[in-house]
Amino acid sequence: MVEHSRSRYQYIDNFLNKPGPTTDPDFVPGAPTISNLEASKVLVIGAGGLGCEILKNLAMSGFRDIHVIDMDTIDVSNLNRQFLFRKDDVGKSKAEVAAASVTSRCKNVRITPFNGKIQDKDEEFYMQFKIIICGLDSIEARRWINATLVSMVDMENPESLKPLVDGGTEGFKGQARVILPTLTSCIECQLDMHAPRAAVPLCTLATIPRQPEHCIEWAKIIAWEEHRKDTALDTDDPEHITWLYDKSLNRAKEFNIPGVTYQLTQGVVKNIIPAIASTNAIIAAACCNEAFKIATSCNPYLTNYMMYTGDDSIYTYTFEHEQKPDCPVCGNLAKTITVNPRHTLQDFIESLGERPEAQLKKPTLRTESTSLYFQSPPSLEKQTRPNLSKQLSELVSDGEEIGVSDPAFTIDFKFKLIFQT
Ligand SMILES: [Zn+2]
Repeated sequence: MVEHSRSRYQYIDNFLNKPGPTTDPDFVPGAPTISNLEASKVLVIGAGGLGCEILKNLAMSGFRDIHVIDMDTIDVSNLNRQFLFRKDDVGKSKAEVAAASVTSRCKNVRITPFNGKIQDKDEEFYMQFKIIICGLDSIEARRWINATLVSMVDMENPESLKPLVDGGTEGFKGQARVILPTLTSCIECQLDMHAPRAAVPLCTLATIPRQPEHCIEWAKIIAWEEHRKDTALDTDDPEHITWLYDKSLNRAKEFNIPGVTYQLTQGVVKNIIPAIASTNAIIAAACCNEAFKIATSCNPYLTNYMMYTGDDSIYTYTFEHEQKPDCPVCGNLAKTITVNPRHTLQDFIESLGERPEAQLKKPTLRTESTSLYFQSPPSLEKQTRPNLSKQLSELVSDGEEIGVSDPAFTIDFKFKLIFQT
């Protein structure tokens, strides 16, 4: 039943009241589809730069039962782009303020906020939604929700398959993707497309800095260690940032490198991804249109990856990223990793943090028959610690499969180690 006035949605309704040339044959125009859209419960993960845009767009495209989850509170530095927040909101929950802000403008939309971590919610919570939309800046949180949604799929129950629409931005670049857990390529399949930014080698920082960032990293890693070893660096302490800024500036002068500012120092030290409001708006709009199409079947949705690049003119590229049979989340084969058999287990563990296809920071490793290294409990850590200095060739054989777990994930990863010749 569509009782309330839909005048707000009259343009949207043009798409819902009659089929178009690309409309799915299953599409039923009019009231049934409109009711479906209104009844679709959607979850927005993240109420930050992307999240504010997503909540506003969903509310204005006819979704009426929206939930939002975010563990952050509002910081004064968010106000330039997270437009649902005002100065008085600083310190309050992003999810709660964002929900109240949108519902005060769109009276017939209900937004249910949750101030907390996605990991605090269980399968039953995620099961209630029809679509999940992520506007996150953390790869770890994305990987967690992706693994959770894949593990929830029950082939006997089509309702257990929750489409995941994911948006992400970094400066002028961004991406939007649609994931049907188990049916399409998942976030873990695509992990190597989102490689962490390469760390600058320590020798560059120590001897030949070329960029202002190198001077700041030098101050953070080397100068701090030299002068203030006994104080833990607190990236939220203005005195600490000022100290690093002064050191960076002096070093930059020494090497004739322009561009070190207080703001840049803060950005580099806190590893802040530069956020541009308009890129967020573009990516959030793409994500919400996909959610709208999924909820209504009015037009075909994205299969399955759109990348947007705005740093050299404008370029978008849409392609179908293929599911990987050796994906640790949705595949069933071990992922092959090439290793140098003369490297130690310690070297290998460090490389797992950096390899684009793994990105595991605290891995626990075992073979089928033995424990290689355990991060915890302390007794097992101690027992397996001597393995760290052993060469891989002493511990595993060429082609052997190892199991890797990491506290950030609910799943185990399988890797097949191939010795480099
Ligand atoms: Zn996958």
